[in-house]
Amino acid sequence: MPEKGFVHLHTHSEYSLLDGACKLESLIKKAKELKMPALALTDHGAMYGAIEFYSLAQKYNLKPIIGCEVYLSPRRRFDKVAQIDTSPFHLTLLAKDNPGYKNLIKLVTLGYLEGFYYKPRIDKELLREYHQGLIALSGCGKGEIPVLILNNEFKKAREVAAEFSSLFGKDNFYLELQDQNLPEQVKINQHLQKIAKELSLPLVATNDVHYLNKEDANSQDVLLCIQTQSTLAQKNRLKFGSSEFYFKTYQEMERLFKEVPEALSSTLKIAESCNLKIDLDKIYLPDYQPPSDYDLNSYLKRLSEQGLERRYPHSAFHTPHSALRTPHSASRIPHPAFRTPHSAFRIPHSALRTPHSALRIPHSALFPLLSPLKFQSPAEG
Ligand SMILES: [Zn+2]
Ligand SMILES: [Zn+2]
Repeated sequence: MPEKGFVHLHTHSEYSLLDGACKLESLIKKAKELKMPALALTDHGAMYGAIEFYSLAQKYNLKPIIGCEVYLSPRRRFDKVAQIDTSPFHLTLLAKDNPGYKNLIKLVTLGYLEGFYYKPRIDKELLREYHQGLIALSGCGKGEIPVLILNNEFKKAREVAAEFSSLFGKDNFYLELQDQNLPEQVKINQHLQKIAKELSLPLVATNDVHYLNKEDANSQDVLLCIQTQSTLAQKNRLKFGSSEFYFKTYQEMERLFKEVPEALSSTLKIAESCNLKIDLDKIYLPDYQPPSDYDLNSYLKRLSEQGLERRYPHSAFHTPHSALRTPHSASRIPHPAFRTPHSAFRIPHSALRTPHSALRIPHSALFPLLSPLKFQSPAEG
């Protein structure tokens, strides 16, 4: 491991929707240009860019680290009460290996399926179950520990740090230092370093990259306005607080963290311990078996018709001339559309639920099409 250097382990791309202004390829090119040995992608609550990022990193011969900045519900993920459960904490997760990648996928999926409340949220119960193969960094100013520090709950902050450390394992949990010239970060960083000393926990520096260059901060601000439905002129709107959330060089990071060089070398250590290999030539789709009286097409047709009747009980679609009832029905989506590993994942669920679409087919109805493909999980592959 080189002694000096820096790897960005907390990076948002355009897949942090309306909150990240970096294109994946430009992120990777920037890391290469700055001679960084690796780069992590940690979009907010989702992994939409993971495969594209992984492939591009391979193309440019850069080590990719797949991660996610997850939302952690303050109580259980099933608790969804206004005022109490509206502000989830942030936590940075990185996949070390294939089981870690699988666990990350599981966590993100359950965040949407079970914990969704304004944001896809997981909880500590899920982390206890699916933490193997993951490295956790304590997060930005919205992490649980920084929030407690800002609320002067120092004892609780230490307890939570100890809890995360025992949950992920001592080598897999880092207290995350950030310095984007925000006044509250002085207090947060001071106390994080104190906790690190008291509990012998490692520190790591990140820059929570949201845009590539300093001058892109304005574009990021516009994105944020679109997300929060506000205007640039509005005074009391959500803002970043500085224009320092860009892809900094090692020298810039070194200047910020000269008092804590171990926080910089930790990034290299973490990058070395992350060695995920994804086989992009394999197809990872479920093998769906229709009920015994059906073949794949006839079962899809049945599900489509049932769905149509449920959603449009008085619709003209039910006439014998309906497009969906002919053998060449719209529901007969040709197999090739689902044959490539990427395309199936790229079709947003919502596209199948467009209010006026003839393709309002229940999601499950599409599964029969996937049947000829054998499911194989990355860990097994
Ligand atoms: Zn954050
Ligand atoms: Zn972030």
